[in-house]
Amino acid sequence: MAEEVVDVVIVGSGPAGLTAAIYASRANLNPVLYEGFQSGGMPGGQLMTTGKVENFPGFPEGIDGQMLMTNMREQAVRLGTRMVMEDVEEVKVGAWPFRIITTSEECCEARSVIIATGATANRLPLDSEQRLWGKGVSACAVCDGALPVFRNRPLAVIGGGDSAVEEAVHLTQFGSKIYMIHRRDELRASKIMQKRAIEHPKIEILWNKIVDEFLGDERLEMLRLRDVQTGEGSEIEVAGAFEAIGHTPNTSILKGGLETTEMGYILTQPFSTATSVPGVFAAGDVQDSKYRQAITAAGSGCMAAMEAEKWLAELP
Ligand SMILES: Cc1cc2nc3c(=O)[nH]c(=O)nc-3n(C[C@H](O)[C@H](O)[C@H](O)COP(=O)(O)OP(=O)(O)OC[C@H]3O[C@@H](n4cnc5c(N)ncnc54)[C@H](O)[C@@H]3O)c2cc1C
Repeated sequence: MAEEVVDVVIVGSGPAGLTAAIYASRANLNPVLYEGFQSGGMPGGQLMTTGKVENFPGFPEGIDGQMLMTNMREQAVRLGTRMVMEDVEEVKVGAWPFRIITTSEECCEARSVIIATGATANRLPLDSEQRLWGKGVSACAVCDGALPVFRNRPLAVIGGGDSAVEEAVHLTQFGSKIYMIHRRDELRASKIMQKRAIEHPKIEILWNKIVDEFLGDERLEMLRLRDVQTGEGSEIEVAGAFEAIGHTPNTSILKGGLETTEMGYILTQPFSTATSVPGVFAAGDVQDSKYRQAITAAGSGCMAAMEAEKWLAELP
């Protein structure tokens, strides 16, 4: 793309970016959307890596994650979004109009920018984890926990923070027993969350343990654990393992140009997608450490497009 100044550039093609694109297109803002290629996941975002999505409204039987994202993309294109399948390397927010630099070194300038680059779930660096990813191994209990394959079966959550406890408690509705596997002898979660986990009759905390291997042929069947203090190995039977070891928001393209929270999420104003730089908006998981769902990402994408439209309309 040659140097040109557009009204809105959207970075990211998950539910947040594509919903922003749908709204911005309908507002005649002629958005350009950088879909990504390799950085921070794949075009279409995290739902491209999952099977059936059962909690996105409008699909009584659920919908395949890839199908949902393909449909959103088609909708955005039909309404007039210009798609560019490239990674953005930098968004320069220090001067206006903002400059967007991509891997092909082509550049465009934008009067407003919507950052919707998501947050990547941290994963255990094990070959067996990769092999069984989506086959019993997941990073989202709220998303996948209710699937029939996990019902009345023993399940595991790996981690010891607030999210890990939330995931474990959520899973107690479905699993027969929930193991929490934690590498320390104390949970990092807040006191109240610790109490919930420790006192729950279905949750058993396995202290000082790390996962050495995910075992199973077609699907996850067992976890091989190691005690970090004694070195002793053990195995537990589980039908599902949910990693809750944090997320890394994809913000490196901003080179520190926007304010972030302590955890690295883009800081937005309450009930808004406005960031610390006027004209730059953030939507979806990149600014949400709490809900991290497709529908909340889509909702904030809608907000970002409407806020960008208003911001542009008020420019002198
Ligand atoms: C295995 C799994 C299953 C899930 N299941 C469900 C479910 O059933 N229901 C549910 O509601 N939620 C589910 N989620 C959560 C849901 O996928 C996320 O909350 C949602 O996708 C967040 O949307 P997003 O648009 O903010 O970010 P993402 O979907 O992460 O999309 C980010 C986008 O940014 C792009 N990007 C990143 N860096 C760059 C760059 N430098 N340049 C250009 N593009 C870039 C990526 O390519 C991607 O297109 C699941 C998540 C996972 C991992």
